[in-house]
Amino acid sequence: MLELRPNCECCGRELAADSADTWICSFECTYCGDCRTRVLAGRCPNCGGDLQRRPVRPAKLLEKYPASTVRVERKDGCAGSHA
Ligand SMILES: [Zn+2]
Ligand SMILES: [Zn+2]
Repeated sequence: MLELRPNCECCGRELAADSADTWICSFECTYCGDCRTRVLAGRCPNCGGDLQRRPVRPAKLLEKYPASTVRVERKDGCAGSHA
């Protein structure tokens, strides 16, 4: 089951569990659409894997299986990490 992390690991932006513009790698490193396109070019800077759109969990299941509230953030952001 996905954690559904609450923020972009690059810029720290809040990402709603039902946001359709949230991107994850196979380890569930989580990024917003802006960072994915403009900064990361579709690659996870942590593992080098490709980023896929995060599926949206239906609202009624979010009550039973809530999204994570644990923020994971890169200390120095992502700029330059894929140079
Ligand atoms: Zn971001
Ligand atoms: Zn990754």
